[in-house]
Amino acid sequence: MGTIEIIRKFIESNRVIERAVREGVERLPLRFRYGISYGPTFRYWLAFLKESENWDRERLEAYQVEQLRDLLMHAGKTVPYYRRVFREYGFKPEEIQILDDIRVLPYLDKTIVKTNRPEFIATNIPKKRLIAVTTSGTTGIPLSMYGTKETEEKHWATVVHLWNKIGYSPGSRTVLFESTAREGGEEPFPWKKYGNKLIISSNYLKDPWMDLFIEMINRFKPEYAIGFPQTIAAFSSYVKRKKRILGGCFKGIILIGEQVYAWQKNLIEGVMGARVFLDYGMVEKAIHGGGCEHADAYHFIPQYGLTEYVPLQNHFNELVGTGFINYAMPLIRYRTGDICRHIRKGCTVCGRPYDTTAAIDGRLCDFLVTADGQIVSVHLPLDHRVLKHIEGFQLYQEKAGEAELRVWTRRKEGKHAGRLLHEIQRCTSPLGRDLVYKIVAMGNEHTRTQTKYSVVDQQLDMRNFLQ
Ligand SMILES: [Zn+2]
Repeated sequence: MGTIEIIRKFIESNRVIERAVREGVERLPLRFRYGISYGPTFRYWLAFLKESENWDRERLEAYQVEQLRDLLMHAGKTVPYYRRVFREYGFKPEEIQILDDIRVLPYLDKTIVKTNRPEFIATNIPKKRLIAVTTSGTTGIPLSMYGTKETEEKHWATVVHLWNKIGYSPGSRTVLFESTAREGGEEPFPWKKYGNKLIISSNYLKDPWMDLFIEMINRFKPEYAIGFPQTIAAFSSYVKRKKRILGGCFKGIILIGEQVYAWQKNLIEGVMGARVFLDYGMVEKAIHGGGCEHADAYHFIPQYGLTEYVPLQNHFNELVGTGFINYAMPLIRYRTGDICRHIRKGCTVCGRPYDTTAAIDGRLCDFLVTADGQIVSVHLPLDHRVLKHIEGFQLYQEKAGEAELRVWTRRKEGKHAGRLLHEIQRCTSPLGRDLVYKIVAMGNEHTRTQTKYSVVDQQLDMRNFLQ
């Protein structure tokens, strides 16, 4: 299909929702499906979040205690895993008085849930009401979770409530950057349009598609873009390099699914001409958070779940969550593997008494380890000019003290990789200087936009070093 033909087809589909497009939509993540998204629970939960965001901290905590007690009583009665654990620990959920009362219970992690998965499913919810969603396995262990329609609606209402801080509503004209690769070997589609949504496939972020996508976006005039930071950064980088112009229609760029590095944020804001809004969440639905009207800090939404902070080495904390919205497969004290530093008991900008943190410093796997066991955060304040000729990069570690810098470049010369390494060492110094690096050229076909991206491909078990 030639360029003109693709554009013509694109314009036509502004008016017609084709059967094929509908089928595409059906395969989208649950929250973009009409049926799941806007039922009574969605509307009720949206209204509840709107009202309760004005509550003071005491009232929010009282609400959390109540939710926690209900959830734990349900778990103790109907979820075999907790029935067993509560018995072992002599734990009585009905006696919960304060949030700290759950601290007697052990933590969960992905491996425990995965190994004992059938035991985590509530026995009082009919099988036909269970909806399965799978994590994409950034940490290498994909996990299949069950929820219900209510879970999905509450989750989606939380997301809409959060994104509404920058004016987003489900009716907003939006471009979604996402992978369209599907199971079963079917060809991923490059783009689809339905109603006020334009989907651009992250599998096609290369010539000649990029120029078409820029053209489509300029015609479609979306108010919002949503996608993984890595994907939208790759797109922005192309626009910048080719000196293309985006129509300047954006009100906000919503980044989901991965931690966001400062250099990505700067690049995207510069190119897209709009504020980057940060969203933090997970398929396990234990914790959800994001920015507010004016601040980038992550606000953890207390109505969604209880967030605990487990201290690790060097003032880092691991986020541990107990989600209130999933009764089909409740996760209690779930270690997310996500790390942050300082927690405030409220946002000084908007005044909401929610726990906030300036940044998610990455996942447990986002650290390098020196030969003597010191950890080095690679949440890098990189000067993104060093990335000019670099398609992508990743640090790979399987032995403490040593790391590979894997670089995808457009040009052959190794000097770009050398400059990047120098910048990484500058950003991670002084600790990072103790690491021995090897540069590995990966060619010019950078395909990492198809999967979740993290700067470090960490093979070591970081919990052994962090505690
Ligand atoms: Zn705020």
